[in-house]
Amino acid sequence: MEMKRPQPPRSFLDLTLLEAERLFADMGQPKYRASQVLSWIFKKHVVRWEDMSNLPAPLREQLAAQWSLLTSRVETVQKSADGTIKLLVKLHDGRAVECVCIPEEKANTICLSTQVGCPVGCRFCASGRWGLLRNLSAGEILEQILHIFSAIPSGETIRNVVLMGMGEPMRNYDNVLRAVRSMNAPWGFGIGARRITLSTVGDVKGIERLSEENLQVNLAISLHAADDATRGKIVPGKKMPPVSSVVEAARDYFAKTRRKVTFEYVLIDGVNSSVLEARKLARLLRGFPCFVNLIPLNPVEGLPWNPPDKKTVRGFLSQLEQSGIPAAIRASRGGDIAAACGQLAGEKRGRSPVFSRSASEKNRN
Ligand code: SAH
Ligand code: SF4
Repeated sequence: MEMKRPQPPRSFLDLTLLEAERLFADMGQPKYRASQVLSWIFKKHVVRWEDMSNLPAPLREQLAAQWSLLTSRVETVQKSADGTIKLLVKLHDGRAVECVCIPEEKANTICLSTQVGCPVGCRFCASGRWGLLRNLSAGEILEQILHIFSAIPSGETIRNVVLMGMGEPMRNYDNVLRAVRSMNAPWGFGIGARRITLSTVGDVKGIERLSEENLQVNLAISLHAADDATRGKIVPGKKMPPVSSVVEAARDYFAKTRRKVTFEYVLIDGVNSSVLEARKLARLLRGFPCFVNLIPLNPVEGLPWNPPDKKTVRGFLSQLEQSGIPAAIRASRGGDIAAACGQLAGEKRGRSPVFSRSASEKNRN
């Protein structure tokens, strides 16, 4: 007998202002009800219909019967010695994702997941270990922000959002873009587009599409190598575009949007971190107004690779700088609670048979 999947609840957070206005019009309600409800959710972080005191009681009841506000819940909260907080969020169907809040001097940066698992399966990343389990809805992406607000002291704000948690945002494009628009909209969380960063493994079509959106979000591309043979060891998949196409897509993106692209480069000992590789990268990016973020590999259980020593990391950086490529070493935070880049797994699924594609392939069916 086939197992029935739980039906996803109808989530109000999936709606835009316009859609909410249409909904209330269809219910015979004035249009301003939409702004009232969205203001409760996004400005006051109220997630129970009964608490929306300026709505008539019968309307609240009607809405509560038809629409969910929160479809997920926080299962655990972990706090790192450096103040980083990681939430394990249980979704309506029992799946789980993780999101992270990194306190900085003045405000918080948060890191959100866009999928449960990831279809790409980069060899150094815990998120892709089991393949893609499912996409998150726009509402589920936004709910992570509400959960983070509930975990930090009231009055604290969120300054930056990075879509660098579990998942490849370009492989869940429509839901991610819908969520980004609600994060950014004045009727939504009102987070400036320039403070939102979308990170992709290098999905050329997605980058092209994003350049047409008329959004000021930051684009980060996880490059990790300057040649196809080296990149192939890190980012698997026959359909992965060659490095040259990824960089070309980044150049086109800049030409169209005038937004500087960031390249992420995870440094792995003995794989992509030699001075020679730094020179190759500099040659590849010469003359292109971009920024390179160097991330020494964060350890993931079952992974055969290590980060290079500090001297190698600094050597790589200074080679780029000497070649005129702006770059920085990005220190990962929250490593002690497995909250750093690439460590988000969502749930413990026992020991992985280790990054063999067949393992994640099996899990996808
Ligand atoms: N799928 C997207 C966004 C999520 S991954 C992407 O790949 O860009 C976010 C970042 O974490 C990427 O730059 C990725 O390369 C990096 N990352 C993954 N595993 C890592 C690890 N073990 N150590 C350091 N960074 C890692
Ligand atoms: Fe997916 Fe990004 Fe992890 Fe690669 S690094 S497996 S694309 S989440």
